Amino acid sequence: MKSDGSRARIPERRCAGCGGRFPKTDLIRLVRGEDGRVAVDNRMRAQSRGTYVCKDPACLKKALKSGRLVSQIGATLDASSEEAVRRAVTGEETLSKD
Ligand SMILES: [Zn+2]
Repeated sequence: MKSDGSRARIPERRCAGCGGRFPKTDLIRLVRGEDGRVAVDNRMRAQSRGTYVCKDPACLKKALKSGRLVSQIGATLDASSEEAVRRAVTGEETLSKD
């Protein structure tokens, strides 16, 4: 792959679901949160190890089912973090109701 310095390109990342490569901006970044659970990195700037998934519920489902998503970032996924991830993927607002 040749690097072209004349244009700023959006780096591509691999989706943990379908395995396809897509521009980072088209993916949801998931990281290991401070509490050890899967968290959505909305600001795309957390320094922790992350993984990416398409904004497609089918990809998320696949990534979760295979365990790839969780094992890649070494985090645990419980019902509430799964719900948060699902909302991020489907573009729904995250409602905080604890
Ligand atoms: Zn995908």
